[in-house]
Amino acid sequence: MAKIGFVGVGNMGGPMAINLIKAGHEVTCYDLSSAAVDKVVGAGGKAASSATDAVDRKEIVITMLPKGDHVRAVYLGEDGLIQAAEEGTLFIDSSTIDVATARDVAKVAHDAGMMMIDAPVSGGVGGAEGGTLTFMCGGPEAAFEKAKPILDVMGGKIVHAGGAGNGQVAKICNNMVLGISMLAAGEAFTLAEKLGLDAQTFFDIVSTSSGYCWSINVYCPVPGPVPTSPANRDYQPGFSAENMLKDLRLSQQAAEQSGVDTHMGHEAMELYERFAEAMNQGGKDFSGIIRMIQEKSGG
Ligand code: NAD
Repeated sequence: MAKIGFVGVGNMGGPMAINLIKAGHEVTCYDLSSAAVDKVVGAGGKAASSATDAVDRKEIVITMLPKGDHVRAVYLGEDGLIQAAEEGTLFIDSSTIDVATARDVAKVAHDAGMMMIDAPVSGGVGGAEGGTLTFMCGGPEAAFEKAKPILDVMGGKIVHAGGAGNGQVAKICNNMVLGISMLAAGEAFTLAEKLGLDAQTFFDIVSTSSGYCWSINVYCPVPGPVPTSPANRDYQPGFSAENMLKDLRLSQQAAEQSGVDTHMGHEAMELYERFAEAMNQGGKDFSGIIRMIQEKSGG
């Protein structure tokens, strides 16, 4: 069983840490929120007094932080994790962050004699609690092989996507497809209904025709056809619109930096900005953007 340091035990990190404890690992955690730490301690974890304290004499350190700025500060800042950890420590960063930061931090870690992988997840809080997350990993093969048994405890599918940062690349490109396809679904259901085709009949056709996709078949944005979709519970998330906007912004930042024309991704980002920020609907499920389309189409 491993001695694991865990920094950032919020909505996702908390249940991930608790699954490691349940599997018999010794987990020492740190978070700016003492309430978040208390939950993990209540499940048998130990509390650290600082992030550096959490990495003290740990073979593996996992971080699950909000954004790239937090990751940069925690790893590279004064009293940063890389400086504090012992040589050979394996770092696993599961935060969803920009590709450039993931690659910068991995290089510093590598140059300091540490192992590191970026391992963002999909599956949400339900996946974190159930230990069924998908981990998309970037980094050297040896680091991935060492991380895999630990990730297996928290996830159902663990994929090695290549070198440093490639986990983040997989994550933001996947979510760019998702954001665009949800908008396409929202527009199609709105248009079909406006033209006199009811939602259930349209669903029955499109879900078995060439328009089928996850956003329609599994996560249908109108109530009725897929009883488990957030549309049936007033768009309670699920995956929030503000999280979708965050990931779309990451994809557009990467597209700009690499000179790739992602016209649809950019449009999707602007529409989610309108929905999540201008209309103040960021806490709703991202599929709720169909409401904005319906409103603009006269209800
Ligand atoms: P969260 O805000 O619930 O948790 C983040 C935690 O980090 C908080 O408890 C916060 O106090 C802590 N933190 C921030 N700065 C810190 C610091 N300097 N030192 C120690 N702790 C610090 O967010 P979350 O929902 O758990 O998301 C974490 C990451 O996972 C994000 O990058 C998010 O995009 C990604 N993600 C979230 C979901 C989801 O459904 N919530 C799904 C997939 C991926």
